[in-house]
Amino acid sequence: MDALRFDNRFVRELPGDAKQGFRRREVRGALWSAIEPTPVAAPTLLAHSREVATLLGLDDADVASPAFAQVFGGNALLPGMQPYAGNYGGHQFGNWAGQLGDGRAITLGETVNVDGERWELQLKGAGPTPYSRTADGRAVLRSSIREFLCSEAMHHLGVPTTRALSLVGTGEQVVRDMLYDGHPTPEPGAVVCRVAPSFLRFGHYQLPASRGEIDLLRTLADFTIRRDFPHLSGEGEALYAAWFAEICERTAVMVAHWMRVGFVHGVMNTDNMSVLGLTIDYGPYGWIDNYDPDWTPNTTDAQGRRYRFGWQPRVAWWNLSRFAQALSPLFDGVEALQAGLQRFADVYARVDRETIAAKLGLADCRDDDVARMETLQALLHQGEMDMTLFFRALMDADPADATLSAFDDVFYNPAKREDAMPGLRDWFDGYAGRIAADAMEPALRREQMRLANPRYVLRNYLAQQAIDAADAGDLSGVHDLLDVMRRPYDDQPGRERFAQKRPDWARQRAGCSMLSCSS
Ligand code: AMP
Ligand code: MG
Repeated sequence: MDALRFDNRFVRELPGDAKQGFRRREVRGALWSAIEPTPVAAPTLLAHSREVATLLGLDDADVASPAFAQVFGGNALLPGMQPYAGNYGGHQFGNWAGQLGDGRAITLGETVNVDGERWELQLKGAGPTPYSRTADGRAVLRSSIREFLCSEAMHHLGVPTTRALSLVGTGEQVVRDMLYDGHPTPEPGAVVCRVAPSFLRFGHYQLPASRGEIDLLRTLADFTIRRDFPHLSGEGEALYAAWFAEICERTAVMVAHWMRVGFVHGVMNTDNMSVLGLTIDYGPYGWIDNYDPDWTPNTTDAQGRRYRFGWQPRVAWWNLSRFAQALSPLFDGVEALQAGLQRFADVYARVDRETIAAKLGLADCRDDDVARMETLQALLHQGEMDMTLFFRALMDADPADATLSAFDDVFYNPAKREDAMPGLRDWFDGYAGRIAADAMEPALRREQMRLANPRYVLRNYLAQQAIDAADAGDLSGVHDLLDVMRRPYDDQPGRERFAQKRPDWARQRAGCSMLSCSS
């Protein structure tokens, strides 16, 4: 693994905690605490992403070497690594939670690849840190598989995301009460190595702001702009304004992608919002099967369903406004921050229109197309239709077919299908008329729709099946899913079973439709 060169700017340029060790504590005036991963009994490589390995300059021999599992399981450090846990706060479910920090994540270092790209390597589940509070700093295999697979699936779907290099089994058991119902059970433990240019979150800026540590806030903002936004120019307030506006823009683009592919993050707390506009912290996330804007996979959020699918754009805006509040000491007035929030709204509206045009196969999106999409979404909801299957079927649906047989497979409930058919017929006739008047070549239209409407998504029940097998020692399901999700927009003959709607048994099963934060 000689290819890995480290240049640890975060710890070099920013103030760290004077105290050592993992005793839980409040850390003031510092942005990180030095902490090493706690070794595990028997680190074993269970899966890796060859694309991420290549990105880092690691070859097959590196990945196959015993040192790989040692390092990415947390049992050894490479020369140049300087492990630390980051200090941040956050709003959780709408309430300010104070200091949180990396309680089970440990950054190993920042590597710079041959192209000069900076990639931070971060282990999740590598043991306690000063920020672990009452928890153990570990992660179970099931949630590690979910983070590993989804990071890579999202990347291949074209959604901005942190990546995952490796999934390493620890050979140790971790005790978890999966549904918080008083049944703690030992489960196999694992460590994922996540990879991103930076894991900085809104909460990193909120915490010093909440404590009145304005110099620290400014130091961190200046550092972030220098390291992660070097293309921005200007100085003082104008530079901060450009930076905030870009974060708003990136967040809008990210959430618009989530809505396009049917992804529900599940825990959009401000400590889980990346300043790079990357999807971060895969916990109780889920994928939409039957289209339902009110659905959330997160049982911890079952009451208010704050993080339901359809609310994600407005929650992103709320989170950005909390972030703006934290940055406000860097500004004289509120106008620049308001302009940034407006940028979010404008960019979201623009990208949403592009998504409508792409998903429906239109050359451009007119006002009546926005209404057309809203009508369709209401039909998908009432008729309990599978979102992914519907849009893929739309690509090939024939206006002359009176029975609309292209949509035979998209319904979950025969009675709802009967009720929905007349409305769907009306909608489809209107759509067919719109397409006929649109200028685009049919082949081009089909291609545009194919690239906006995935055939494969990481359906909750598919991930759960792979997890069940992995718990019994069979990793083939994880490898298969990783491979299928490499080309989510292609028809992959022989892999039809990965593109089917959720079976009935999975409707209410834990892991398939319900997840808690207890990972
Ligand atoms: P999350 O819901 O994963 O975003 O986590 C929220 C906060 O709880 C973060 O500060 C995490 O580091 C911390 N946390 C979650 N699980 C654990 C764990 N098993 N051990 C230590 N800290 C944890
Ligand atoms: Mg988190």
